Amino acid sequence: MKPSGIQLEMNFDGPRGNRFKEKLDNGIFQLLVEINPPQDNLSLDDAVARFSEIEYVVSAKQDFPAALAFTDRLAAPGNGMDTVRFASALCKTDRDKHLLCVSGRDRTVEEIEKILAHASHEGFRNILAVSGGSLPGDTLKEVQSRLYTESVHTIRSVRERFNPLLLAGCAVNPYRYTPGTVFPQYFKLMRKIGAGASFIVTQFGWDMLKLQELRWSLARRSMHLPSIARFLMLTPDRAEEICSGKVPGVHISPDLEAMLRREMTHSLAQFEAAQWRRIQIHAAGARFLGYSGVQIAGAERADHVNILLNRISEALAEFSSFEEWRSAYSDYYARLDMAPYPYRFYEFEGLFSSAQPSDSPVMSPAEFLPFEGLELFKHRLARRLFAHADAMPASEKRLTKKLLVSCRSCPACRLPKTDFVCPETCPKGMANGPCGSARAGGECELFPRECIYSKRMRIASHYNEFGSLEEGLVEPVSSRR
Ligand code: SF4
Repeated sequence: MKPSGIQLEMNFDGPRGNRFKEKLDNGIFQLLVEINPPQDNLSLDDAVARFSEIEYVVSAKQDFPAALAFTDRLAAPGNGMDTVRFASALCKTDRDKHLLCVSGRDRTVEEIEKILAHASHEGFRNILAVSGGSLPGDTLKEVQSRLYTESVHTIRSVRERFNPLLLAGCAVNPYRYTPGTVFPQYFKLMRKIGAGASFIVTQFGWDMLKLQELRWSLARRSMHLPSIARFLMLTPDRAEEICSGKVPGVHISPDLEAMLRREMTHSLAQFEAAQWRRIQIHAAGARFLGYSGVQIAGAERADHVNILLNRISEALAEFSSFEEWRSAYSDYYARLDMAPYPYRFYEFEGLFSSAQPSDSPVMSPAEFLPFEGLELFKHRLARRLFAHADAMPASEKRLTKKLLVSCRSCPACRLPKTDFVCPETCPKGMANGPCGSARAGGECELFPRECIYSKRMRIASHYNEFGSLEEGLVEPVSSRR
């Protein structure tokens, strides 16, 4: 399949295998080094020159399976460089080992399929589908006017149009600490798996109980998808950003913040030593918890990548059992509380009691805020009045829809599939589940209102009907206001 409108620069002549998938299938632990394609004010040659040493270090590593993971974070016309074009120029060989992220921000399904076709044509095999975040500096209005094609649609496209040439994975943020934010993430994950996701990559974080919670959650549902744990190499600047809560979807505990702030007062060499040890402990722990690999963000120099590969390789040999690792992790963090107070919900009791879950892990009691009063009254009315709104012209009963569900005039009404909560009241228009960026207590990252998925959890809990949060697929819109 040749993508129209794309200048193809080379054909990939290599084997048609997929070594990334082979490692996942065979339980071979791998390390992905994350690369952010640069801004597109740089020429392609200069961009390649900047990253070629890292590519060389990774591909020369023979004794440890390592590859690159390209992000699509800044992808937007006139902003970040086209990820496929950049990755193709950087990696002349071994493209089936690497992972390419494809973001849905500012792209229709058709545009995403052109990118997938381009990636496939160039010999890439592995796609991480994400819905995309806001761009730095975006106002609420700008976010609301952007189109976010949700990752479930990219995953479905891979399955329906590019199988078996491409393999799609999905992202999840397990670092959520209220029932109203934990469960929607996992419901959405089930939807992504249902759409065809074959592996998972996590948001980055430091709470290993949460990484275990994700594995146990999958096991409880008899899902045994390979998962890759993403971690961030901290610099003092990045640590400051994390501590100040400036990174969407990343919320740390006051204890961890105090620890990072202490480290920031040390010399740079001491600070770096603490980060190398931290990455070692987390990578080794991920393997004990059943992860198939780690993806490390923030290693941006070839010498750092080289150290990273060696340190992680050492760490994997360092601990002989889960118990030994658990005690090293507890010592390293001096038994800090990792939950961002006052939120500290974990889906299971007894996490860390063993590496693998028991056959019937004990669920923690989950309480949701009530759904009652005027909210409930309006919702009941909406259920009655708009039960067939998806089969009618979207303009039908628009005024009533505005009054009851704050309708924002989609080209096609999807209310009956979204629990009568208009998906366009989410700034990113998420119709199949939450983004990973809600605040710790469940408010939207972009404005001071409850995330629509925390609300949908309250509704689902009120009616004791959870199916609409994880089953089927809500179709995308092709444009927004
Ligand atoms: S409403 Fe929820 S899903 Fe939508 S942007 Fe806000 S946090 Fe993300």
